[in-house]
Parts: sequence; structure tokens; C-alpha cells
Amino acid sequence: MNQARGNHVCTLCSELHDTFLILDGGPKMLLGAAELWVPSLDYSVIFVAPNLVYHYVSEHRYAPPNAFVDAVLGAEVAYKQWDPRAESEKLLNSAFV
Ligand SMILES: [Zn+2]
Repeated sequence: MNQARGNHVCTLCSELHDTFLILDGGPKMLLGAAELWVPSLDYSVIFVAPNLVYHYVSEHRYAPPNAFVDAVLGAEVAYKQWDPRAESEKLLNSAFV
């Protein structure tokens, strides 16, 4: 998860408000202020989505592409072999060389 500098709220809800998520009793996470980086199952593609995608799926029945869903479902295994923070830093550093 990469923290963004700004914050987006869901414009589909009738009232504009910050959206939060708490998973497994963990800390409260502001949705709309970060992006998810998820590698495809074969590590050939990196999917990047706003973390507000969780809200779009759970509240608005948004259906992401199957490849993204497969990547998210396999993320627990993928993250054992892939570090999104290191990948992000590597990509950012290569962009400014
Ligand atoms: Zn909404």
C-alpha cells in the first residue's frame, strides 16, 4: 500500500464523507488516501488501484477485471516473494535516472 498525498471520497454515495476500513481488529484505515500494488500471479504485471476499490466492491457492487481479482486473491502468497514498497522505490528511482 502506497500512501497518497491527497484524499478522495466516494462520489457514488449520497453523502460525501471519508470512508474507513477496519480489518481483523486492526487499525482504522482511511480509504481513498492510498493505492494498492498487487502483482499478477506470474509477476508479469503490477496492478495499481486506489484502496477505495474495497468500498466500490463492497458497497457499490463494482466488479474489477478477473485478472485483478485473481491477483488480490493470491496476494498473500505473492507478498511472501515480492515487496511492493521495494518495487515502488525501484520504479521511482529508475524514472529519475
Ligand atoms: Zn460509496
